[in-house]
Amino acid sequence: MAKRKRKAKRRLLAPSTRNIPNMLKFVVDEMLLDVAKYLRIIGYDTICPVPGTQDRFILEDIKKRVLITADKEFCRLTRKKGRRCIYVDVQSSLNKKLSHVIGKLHLVPRYKHSRCPKCNGTLRREKSENVDVDEGIRRRHRYVYVCEVCGHIYWKGSQWQRMIARIWRIRKKLGLIKPRRK
Ligand SMILES: [Zn+2]
Repeated sequence: MAKRKRKAKRRLLAPSTRNIPNMLKFVVDEMLLDVAKYLRIIGYDTICPVPGTQDRFILEDIKKRVLITADKEFCRLTRKKGRRCIYVDVQSSLNKKLSHVIGKLHLVPRYKHSRCPKCNGTLRREKSENVDVDEGIRRRHRYVYVCEVCGHIYWKGSQWQRMIARIWRIRKKLGLIKPRRK
């Protein structure tokens, strides 16, 4: 019993994401589309303003969304208004950019809620036999995922696996994945 209690306490104290709402939503500026794409894949509602939208409109629009921007000055202004903002250096590698964002917020992937990387639409799971895809894809994948907004069809092939693996490596490096106890 005591052991179980200790374990429960350890779980509570773990620097996990337990206290951070995982329903965060994002607005990502056009310079960081690669980051936006990954946020959608890992299940976070992420909008990108239309290119050329003035900053003030973005600010009015974001409401409770966390802003991710490559514009330092805009980030400073956003914070001044009491809104949450993460500055990301557009020159750094994709791994570094993702690591910065995931590390700051301790983001946990929510693959059940993955969204369309192209348009942020929600994805609907469909039997591949009911969808217009190649025979090969139908053979390899029983289910595909259809974007409810743009209609694009996705399946969990090698590209998907590579993206998931990248996120896993980043979280591991950040210490967000605990090694399994033997
Ligand atoms: Zn879409």
